[in-house]
Amino acid sequence: MPEGDALHRAARRLQPLVGQRVQAESPHPRAAVTGVAERVDGLRLEAVEAVGKNLLLRFEGGVVLRSHLRMRGRWFVRPRGAAVLGRPWLVLRGDRLEAVQVNGPVLELHQRAVRRVGPDILARPPDLDAMVDRLRSQHPERAIGDALLDQRLVAGIGNMWKAEALWRARVSPWRPLADVSDDDVRRVLEEAARLLRASVDGVREGRAVYRKAGRPCPRCGGRIRSRGQGDGNRIAYWCPRCQPGGDGPTGA
Ligand SMILES: [Zn+2]
Repeated sequence: MPEGDALHRAARRLQPLVGQRVQAESPHPRAAVTGVAERVDGLRLEAVEAVGKNLLLRFEGGVVLRSHLRMRGRWFVRPRGAAVLGRPWLVLRGDRLEAVQVNGPVLELHQRAVRRVGPDILARPPDLDAMVDRLRSQHPERAIGDALLDQRLVAGIGNMWKAEALWRARVSPWRPLADVSDDDVRRVLEEAARLLRASVDGVREGRAVYRKAGRPCPRCGGRIRSRGQGDGNRIAYWCPRCQPGGDGPTGA
């Protein structure tokens, strides 16, 4: 049974992932409906600590994930990409290691009030005007796909929903902010808010472009492309045919 000492050991095992941006995934359906993976995907893990019988994972933007292990829950750390046994509740992938949580049974997100974090995409309703203002405060050459992952500008959009929202709004992730109208920025944010809210409510839409490089675009049949973007080199996915205007560093 996981007691405090076991939680402290788990916290210690997770330390090598602190400071890294993680890719998050919830293979287990009970965990997937919580929307936890989407909310922490792409965020930097800032601290892991055991508090009482909880493991607290603190992410940038004031996002705190609480994991309570009850009787059977467990965290372990292994090399990234090792074979998956069963269906973990949560996988957090770093550069070389990944943290795996199995058997839940409690994963909850809490949001600390942090001034530097941008408006929450999952607020009801999301403050789109404030998000547009913050995006407009950026260097006009900054690509919109990169800016959307900056939690100081908009909190809560991970790499998957970034790609899917841009595709739905027909905006290329490579377009410089200067080249995207307020209306288009707003449509991207509206799509992101809708997709994330639907995912949290358990009605997840199929992915059109995320991790579908080389396959045909479901809208126009063009070939979906992928390329690392921004400081974190997160992979952007887009259809150059129906998301025109900026095809990445090569311009091809
Ligand atoms: Zn297309």
